[in-house]
Amino acid sequence: MPMRSWEDELQELTAEFLAGGPARVSALQAATDRLAALPHDLPALAELRRLFHSLAGAGATYGVERLSTLAREGEALCLEVAEGETRPPQAIDEWRRLVREIAAAFVEAASRTGGAPAPGFATPGGPVTALVSPADGRKAHGSRPFFDIVVVDPDETVGRRVARLMAHDGVRIRNAASAAEARRAFDEAIPDGVLVDLQLPDGPGYGVIEDLRSRPGGDEPAVVIVSLTGDFLDQAEAIHAGADACFDTPVDWDEVAHKLSHLLERSVADVPRVLIVEDDPANAVYARTILEAVGYEVRVCDRPRHFNETLATFRPDLILMDIVLPEFNGFDLTRFVRQDNQYATLPIIFLTSETEVQARIQTVKAGGDDFLLKPVNPSLLIANVAARLERARFLKTLLNRDGLTRLLTHTSFMEQAQALMAQKRRHDTGPASLVMLDIDHFKTVNDTYGHQAGDRVLQTLSTTLRRHLRRSDVLGRYGGEEFGILLDTLSENEAARLMLRLLDEFGRTDHRAPDGTTFRATFSAGVAELLPSYTDLERWIQAADAALYGAKRTGRNRVLTSQDWVCSLRPATPA
Ligand code: GH3
Ligand code: MG
Ligand code: MG
Ligand code: MG
Repeated sequence: MPMRSWEDELQELTAEFLAGGPARVSALQAATDRLAALPHDLPALAELRRLFHSLAGAGATYGVERLSTLAREGEALCLEVAEGETRPPQAIDEWRRLVREIAAAFVEAASRTGGAPAPGFATPGGPVTALVSPADGRKAHGSRPFFDIVVVDPDETVGRRVARLMAHDGVRIRNAASAAEARRAFDEAIPDGVLVDLQLPDGPGYGVIEDLRSRPGGDEPAVVIVSLTGDFLDQAEAIHAGADACFDTPVDWDEVAHKLSHLLERSVADVPRVLIVEDDPANAVYARTILEAVGYEVRVCDRPRHFNETLATFRPDLILMDIVLPEFNGFDLTRFVRQDNQYATLPIIFLTSETEVQARIQTVKAGGDDFLLKPVNPSLLIANVAARLERARFLKTLLNRDGLTRLLTHTSFMEQAQALMAQKRRHDTGPASLVMLDIDHFKTVNDTYGHQAGDRVLQTLSTTLRRHLRRSDVLGRYGGEEFGILLDTLSENEAARLMLRLLDEFGRTDHRAPDGTTFRATFSAGVAELLPSYTDLERWIQAADAALYGAKRTGRNRVLTSQDWVCSLRPATPA
């Protein structure tokens, strides 16, 4: 679908801004009237200042300089009154004059751009046109109107069923009746999701997934396998082929649809999220439009009192912060964010019309990363946001991932394991297994072929694991040549079968030493399913570790389950 350029959007937004003139003017009038009645009403003065301030910014943003100049005068006068330099009665007359001129400037600008001046302008205090933000009704994932799903099934009612169950997610279904048709569908476009029946007229469904995953961009889509014909569905085989989830007969279609939308949401979650903290709707919509046009997920927080909640639920990757806000200012909010360690790398860019050096100094002191002046040039905003996001992502990788293998560090892996355990304790969502894996005779590899060759073996193993496990699986470098793997939804036996497939593949891989000789390596693995009796993570790890020890003891190059190992330790029962 062709995407509208931000220029088009901007034009529309300018019209929105001008249409919002009557609302702004009557708000200014109301605040002035309050001050006329109670000259020393400080909240009213603060409110008037804020109204002028945001109009000054928005006027500049939408290229109506006259509005901006008038509003700035009004704001300056607010400051003079606040500091006792001008007496309120004098100021009131001056504000009334400014508001009249602002109303006239709105009418003038609207007629210049061809928009009819809104009714209600002529009568002060008349009907108020509310400011509407065109982006408010849009879905969170912005420019994407639907998820593209390929349903590979000879029975075309399956596609219709999925379409009906997922209507709320916004899906478009493409049907493929065979593996060959699925390949043609992938040729057209790589979809967001694929649902494959195991039994196809021209071969098993596994082949379709392997084909998809081998294409450029083919590692992105969410893949779900169903077995409708009552064929035995081997979960380990399906995951090895590249499936994210599997469903056996009798297929619970609600479950399938639920899982698919969950997986699709996760792919949306990979889109960087930007939080705009801005009290002026016109300014917020301007930044939002530009950032959504380039594909970010954007949310606006217009009330500082909601900031904490938005931060926790939306989990932004970057914040665009205004300085002048109702209740708390942008500096306070930034200090609040920075006191929490989990937001240490969260980039905060100040986007403000405050030009003073003092404001700049304060943003730096509060922990801001950058400072952009409103109205910000769209290209400059995009470049800044992109660069800051990239840098933050890099820093996060440095902190959580191991440099050699790119897998989670020991600490991050343990955190994920704790989280999975806690989740399983809250909801019973089936089994989960932990694998402890250790390369065999690795010291000999290093001694024979050199440390560098050893490093490459570690990298090859991590690539093999990443390629054949689901994106939701958690992989960590537990120690030097020891890895930890969390496999949600897999029983101990399923996890063991999957690990056997991986061992087979890894064992047949040729590694090359710097002198050109090739060699092979194997690993041993211990698998333990999470049991209700494991009260803490330590117990679960011990069980997997014991099985790994068993695998080493009984000859290496093998996978042992916790059950196998416990049974082998039991003395044979006398006949
Ligand atoms: P086993 O089959 O019993 O596991 O024998 P092993 O030789 O693999 O086990 P051991 O624990 O005796 O030796 C592990 C070796 O792994 C020792 C250490 O030098 C090496 N090692 C640990 N981290 C790295 C690394 O990052 N790179 C390389 N090249 N070697 C590493
Ligand atoms: Mg503001
Ligand atoms: Mg070892
Ligand atoms: Mg070891």
